Amino acid sequence: QNLQDEITEAQKSLIRYCGEFSPFIAEKASGSYMYDKRGKAILDFTSGQMCSVFGHNHPKFVEQLKKSGDKAIHLLSSILSPPVIDLAKKLTQELPESLSKCIFLNTGSESNEVAIRMAKLYTGGFEVIGFSGSWHGMTAGAQSYTYSKTRKGYGPTIPGSLMIPAPYAYRCPIAHCKGTCDNTCLEVGIKMVDQQSVGEYAALIAEPLLSAAGMIELKPNYVKRLKALCEERGLLLILDEAQTALGRLGKTFAFENYDITPDFVTLSKTLGGGLPLAATITSDKIEAYCHEQGFIYMTSHVSDPFCASFGLIALQILHEEHLAEKALSMGAYLKHQLLELQKVHECIGDVRGNGLLLGVEIVKDRETKIPDDDLGMRICDTCLELGLNMNIVRVKGYGSVFRIAPPLTISKEDIDIGISILNKALLLQNN
Ligand code: PMP
Repeated sequence: QNLQDEITEAQKSLIRYCGEFSPFIAEKASGSYMYDKRGKAILDFTSGQMCSVFGHNHPKFVEQLKKSGDKAIHLLSSILSPPVIDLAKKLTQELPESLSKCIFLNTGSESNEVAIRMAKLYTGGFEVIGFSGSWHGMTAGAQSYTYSKTRKGYGPTIPGSLMIPAPYAYRCPIAHCKGTCDNTCLEVGIKMVDQQSVGEYAALIAEPLLSAAGMIELKPNYVKRLKALCEERGLLLILDEAQTALGRLGKTFAFENYDITPDFVTLSKTLGGGLPLAATITSDKIEAYCHEQGFIYMTSHVSDPFCASFGLIALQILHEEHLAEKALSMGAYLKHQLLELQKVHECIGDVRGNGLLLGVEIVKDRETKIPDDDLGMRICDTCLELGLNMNIVRVKGYGSVFRIAPPLTISKEDIDIGISILNKALLLQNN
């Protein structure tokens, strides 16, 4: 049976949740590679769905999972277990004093739902601000702050969802800056939402690097001003670190790169190293008040011991293997190589990002900066044929951007292999 027939056959019993399935069926994954039964190896520049920070099937991770499986897998939500107790302790020890209370869940969507619910309960408000183009999840609340294309067909967002523009320096959303952002869009954006607000603010939710919006990094001075604007308005700041925590931006938590402490940090993707674990972390004060108000968040897998054990192993590997430092050095090398490609390929309009969370924007020409979606997709397809898994983020009005997020364990040799495949794929488009 050939590959296409296999996929067609599989589709008979699968909901097509992602548009089209990739023309590759992975039988095995290890380190920075995925393998199929036909002997094809694919270098993974996306770490799965940006989750496998320490590579696929890290031997220590697999070994620990077997051990954890021999203990408790799932319990009644109100029953605690050593992995949950230990992970809460370890995580909060690594965080500033004010981030001292955790809840463990399965998905990033849930982690944001919990933060939003607690922020509403604590402030008594219901209005939550997000950045346009972002992604915070697929559940109704989180999806209200996820980019518009994913919401089409499902009716209105939850009441009180407001948007401000992302500080997209390459294409300034308010046609003000040329190349470097001076944060005017933040001042303009906040004034715009102030005008729409009914005066019942609860929170503002942001990623330290807006990934789905086109790999737009929030710079330290921007975040500092953002925090001040939130404080002035009584908005709690929720930082969604689904993609950025556990080393990707050079620190265990990306907000350590800023001089602020958010009111909530949400963790998911990277915390489980490829398995479903998420967390919402907040202060004693917020937790105590919400508890008094009767806060309940009971999902079937809240506080599951087996899932919590993934987080313990993830933190251990992160520190033992100095992955945050590696993300910085390998990220600098990868970015440099991408900038070299930009010198020879006109369609690369911009290279941006930090650590091992990088973006390459594909344009029709550098003057007009018109996004080239078709070309971006063709490059992605050719890369996969040639052995490199790439991912493209395409948000209406936000360009067509490769999201490059390999495992933090990637070697320099594998970066070179990836760059050489990307170069070849770019050259093939011109012929
Ligand atoms: N936040 C961010 C920043 C994400 O990238 C995602 C997933 N793409 C989510 C939240 C949602 O996480 P999940 O898919 O685990 O619900």
